[in-house]
Amino acid sequence: MDIGIVGGGINGLCCAWALVQDGHHVTLFERDRIMQATSRASSKLLHGGIRYLENGQFRLVREALYERDAWLSMVPHLAEPLPIIYPKFLNGKRSRLTLDMGFRLYGLLSGSSTLPSSAWLTNNEVHEKIPELNITGLQGGYRYYDVQMDDYLLGNWVAEQCRSLGVQIIEQTPVRSVSAQGTLILADGTEKRFERVVNVAGPWAEKLLIGSKIPSRYHLDLVRGSHLIIARSCSHALILEVPDERRIFFVLPWKGKTLLGTTEVRQQLDDAIECSQKETQYLIEAYNHYFISQISDVDVVDTFVGLRPLLRSAANPGKASREYAIQKNGKLVTVFGGKWTTSRALANKVQASITIPMQSHFR
Ligand SMILES: Cc1cc2nc3c(=O)[nH]c(=O)nc-3n(C[C@H](O)[C@H](O)[C@H](O)COP(=O)(O)OP(=O)(O)OC[C@H]3O[C@@H](n4cnc5c(N)ncnc54)[C@H](O)[C@@H]3O)c2cc1C
Repeated sequence: MDIGIVGGGINGLCCAWALVQDGHHVTLFERDRIMQATSRASSKLLHGGIRYLENGQFRLVREALYERDAWLSMVPHLAEPLPIIYPKFLNGKRSRLTLDMGFRLYGLLSGSSTLPSSAWLTNNEVHEKIPELNITGLQGGYRYYDVQMDDYLLGNWVAEQCRSLGVQIIEQTPVRSVSAQGTLILADGTEKRFERVVNVAGPWAEKLLIGSKIPSRYHLDLVRGSHLIIARSCSHALILEVPDERRIFFVLPWKGKTLLGTTEVRQQLDDAIECSQKETQYLIEAYNHYFISQISDVDVVDTFVGLRPLLRSAANPGKASREYAIQKNGKLVTVFGGKWTTSRALANKVQASITIPMQSHFR
């Protein structure tokens, strides 16, 4: 089949990759450059998402853990195991029992993963690994493993696989509208006809659908996440509770510096996608709460920001999930949501929805 894809983020690229491997002729249209939007602004983790266990997102976590390991074995030159410590403090929001159950479940859902299992570390062991941590109230911590990658390089590696199999990637070509009949109208008015069209425009997918006068069964909540790069090295990756909140944030080693993130700020699609001064202060204060040597604005050498396309739950519209959904309208397939880690799994479902005449949507 002749298939047109809209969106050159990781989800669009993985869809192109899966479909070309299935023998289809694929053309991908990207408004700007590939891998320049959300997919380049991630926390650089291929992970199950330990925190989603608290929301009962077991299916997603299990799939993501499987995908984490699949990426690691496929591209060991672009991804590496990352030990992360969750220090337990006296005033922390989660009890030792909660953490214990969470990490055990994470391990169970990892199945036959080759990554080491999680382990409880004593106060001294945590301190030895992170001497710069302020240990007041420290009661020990869990060490577990996920995987770190360079999102931009890995996305471009996927793009290379696509190109080598014959996918035509057309950049700087915005798509104005799509149709259930398989047409695409480009911004310059040119009409392109395909046997199938896949709308994988990430945070912009719902807008493209609505702009094309096609009703959207799903809705996206757009939640900005900012990261700071701090000009100091980081001895060990940490997952920490934001003081007085249940939210967690990461402190990660990143190319000889420290990556701090992230925030969660709901916004509209038309608002600027940039790190506000308030978010910068929020992350700096959270970091300073835990470290002996304090940082300020002057230590921030870079920031990067992305907009999470989160699927709004139909049952509970106030609750957004990291799950993804696929909607079919005739020859058009639209993807809502989807994490970096699960992009291959999502692409396989898109491929199945195109190949097999199945139910019109599934998660
Ligand atoms: C702060 C933050 C941290 C995150 N951390 C992680 C993490 O550590 N691990 C993880 O697994 N996930 C993480 N995620 C989630 C993950 O990054 C995203 O869910 C994923 O990158 C979305 O990819 P995408 O391809 O759907 O969207 P995008 O990467 O945004 O790609 C969509 C593309 O469509 C293009 N486009 C839009 N409209 C049009 C149009 N009309 N015509 C042509 N092209 C168009 C855009 O230019 C864009 O390039 C994070 C997200 C955020 C925001």
